[in-house]
Amino acid sequence: MDIEKLQQFLQDNNLPKFRLGQIQKAIFADGVSSFGEITTLSKDLREKMENEMRLLSFDVEKVLVANDGQSIKALLKLHSGDLIETVLISPKPGVWSACISCQVGCAMGCRFCATGKMGFKRDLTAEEITDQILFWRQYLKKNFKSFQNSKFEIQNYNVGNIVYMGMGEPFNNWENVAESIKVLTDEKLFGFGSRSISVSTSGIADGIERMATEFPQVNLAISLHFASDEKRDRFMPVNKKDNLENLRQALKKYFQITTRKVFLEYIMLDGINDTALDAKLLADFIYSIGNTHLLHMNLIRYNMTSEDLKPSSKTRTQLFKQELEKHSINATIRKSLGEEIEAACGQLAGKN
Ligand code: SF4
Repeated sequence: MDIEKLQQFLQDNNLPKFRLGQIQKAIFADGVSSFGEITTLSKDLREKMENEMRLLSFDVEKVLVANDGQSIKALLKLHSGDLIETVLISPKPGVWSACISCQVGCAMGCRFCATGKMGFKRDLTAEEITDQILFWRQYLKKNFKSFQNSKFEIQNYNVGNIVYMGMGEPFNNWENVAESIKVLTDEKLFGFGSRSISVSTSGIADGIERMATEFPQVNLAISLHFASDEKRDRFMPVNKKDNLENLRQALKKYFQITTRKVFLEYIMLDGINDTALDAKLLADFIYSIGNTHLLHMNLIRYNMTSEDLKPSSKTRTQLFKQELEKHSINATIRKSLGEEIEAACGQLAGKN
């Protein structure tokens, strides 16, 4: 929803200022799916808004719900014709996390990622980013009843957490991502707390430092995945510009500014980064940063998007976790949700 357009519309139609608050509440807090549902407005005004304005900056092409109801994926067609994806995940009953995209495609070219294979098309505007959350609010509200009898009964229809972990590298579109965070945390609009938002980067060092200064309360996640430059170079081209040493320095500076926990993401790739030596290198890297109590390791099962890469088995993942523990590093094994709906970023958009 373009707030400036809405303000302009109210001005052009000589409507009193209090209408703005009324409309914003209906859209952002109540999750109405159309202007027609804002019954505090006159019928004429609702019709005029329906004809002249749009609530969302995209049309919904497809919504896929996983069999267990724990993940829902939406394919969205922007007005430019480009496709993006967003995923809603329920890690536990009553909790909904929305994973949102910030670009169409991505220039970073990580070898294990479907979006990386699409290449970069364009940046999303702040409106296109925040509209993904607006869409999920509307979706949860509309489908509230159908969730009430399921195992994943929801307490309310609000998204609880937001992660910038969909298509795109947030620090390559920082201006719009930063603007979108301001809109999401604006109490008159979405009203999310900064701590319920996480930004995930493939490891752009100056972006990490900028985020610490501009949004010290927003969570940071880093797609680390490899603890040797040789392997990281092979699978993540970002490492050629920002290698592990740059990442280490960026994290040291980050912790000088904020003491928020940082999440290190590590996808488990069979025979590639899941050996005892990899665990040792990972532990060494974590210790070299310092503030180990603020670094949390997430081991993630690989959601297969590449023919030549396979997920590590449960046993190997467990052994890897135990190796880390031998080096006094705790890690959480994250379940991969929604494989049958191709929930990994870029899997659907890349096919259309
Ligand atoms: S993993 Fe993230 S940064 Fe890497 S190509 Fe995919 S979307 Fe881009």
